[in-house]
Amino acid sequence: MSFSGDRRNDEYEGGPGKNGPEVYDGPAGMNPDGVIESNWNEVVDNFDNMKLKEELLRGIYAYGFEKPSAIQQRAILPCIQGHDVIAQAQSGTGKTATFSISILQQIDTTLMECQALILAPTRELAQQIQKVVIALGDFMKANCHACIGGTNVREDIRRLEAGAHVVVGTPGRVYDMISRGALRTNFIKIFVLDEADEMLSRGFTEQIHDVFKTLRCADVQVILLSATMPDDVLNVSKCFMRNPVRILVKKEELTLEGIKQFFVNVEREDWKLDTLCDLYDTLSITQAVIFCNTRRKVDWLTENMHHRDFTVSAMHGDMDQKERDVIMRQFRTGSSRVLITTDLLARGIDVQQVSLVINYDLPSNRENYIHRIGRGGRFGRKGVAINFVTAEDKRTLKDIEQFYNTVIEEMPKNVADLI
Ligand code: ADP
Repeated sequence: MSFSGDRRNDEYEGGPGKNGPEVYDGPAGMNPDGVIESNWNEVVDNFDNMKLKEELLRGIYAYGFEKPSAIQQRAILPCIQGHDVIAQAQSGTGKTATFSISILQQIDTTLMECQALILAPTRELAQQIQKVVIALGDFMKANCHACIGGTNVREDIRRLEAGAHVVVGTPGRVYDMISRGALRTNFIKIFVLDEADEMLSRGFTEQIHDVFKTLRCADVQVILLSATMPDDVLNVSKCFMRNPVRILVKKEELTLEGIKQFFVNVEREDWKLDTLCDLYDTLSITQAVIFCNTRRKVDWLTENMHHRDFTVSAMHGDMDQKERDVIMRQFRTGSSRVLITTDLLARGIDVQQVSLVINYDLPSNRENYIHRIGRGGRFGRKGVAINFVTAEDKRTLKDIEQFYNTVIEEMPKNVADLI
């Protein structure tokens, strides 16, 4: 991707050099294994000490948060100080609230203009983020609009024209709204890319570039977040970030440790279905997400499960948005308990009751493995991930183990006790 002709190209110096944050005390760049190195060590372990607006603080406590998580303790402060920030922390550790709080602290609610723009890779994630921003900003009277594809364009325009302090959306619809003049960019001073590596790699780069080019403020603050940050993405980010503060929450402090990972040797593709049926009682103990690699496979599996009288719901990108909304609502409220889906829901989706993730198919990219299994065990809760492995999958599983430096053991008989 080229963010060429962009002023930021001139400003970037390849890491925090002489103009970097004062607390910088480590080497610039990243580790050879693709994890970023932190260059910011300040930790604030209490929301009260973050100098937040009174109404925002009320919103945070009313939402039920008592103490900031590791990433919140490190990243909120540099964000509200206006630094460009790259934050990498595992799934379910509170990245959404990190940028939501940072945005809410910085916007002026007396100004009825969009001041912060958040882009996310899926509509469901954008809607989820919108809810968090609205909830945390409840006492500030902050409003936040979700600008996503598959919804009524005219209604979207109307809502934007009525004014929204914060807009969160998927790149296509957001760009469309900017082009139509419905979303004014003159006052946008914070630009957030959630699931940044996904956003900056597959398919989205052009659209993000297009959106970024329309931002008018001279010093737009850029915040990138993800659980995974491959090197090429970090390289791309250099083009449009200025001396970013980099924060990596170390493995020891991550809650993914709470997720037990297993495999089941199914030998052949044909035997996966029986294996899943055998596991059904375990699946429905709390809530479970089952990942397949294609939409067709999701449909096929759902049909076959129904045929055998198992209750499951399904969701993928071929369904229309209304249907997707219903399925998501049923799953979030717990009225459906077993959801079969694609990588559409691999990232970001937060349903606290999910304690089991099944990879019916192993993911086709290594990053998504960690995102998928991170749908369970949210915020330090217990979680179990079960991988169905055919004879051909054995190597892929080894690869995953090696990449994440972890051991995936054969599923024990008492797996239900671990959930
Ligand atoms: P991430 O974006 O890192 O995947 P989320 O922001 O979705 O994680 O947070 C995961 C879950 O943890 C959410 O249900 C959220 O409400 C909860 N959570 C986040 N921060 C806190 C906190 N400080 N205290 C308690 N719960 C929190």
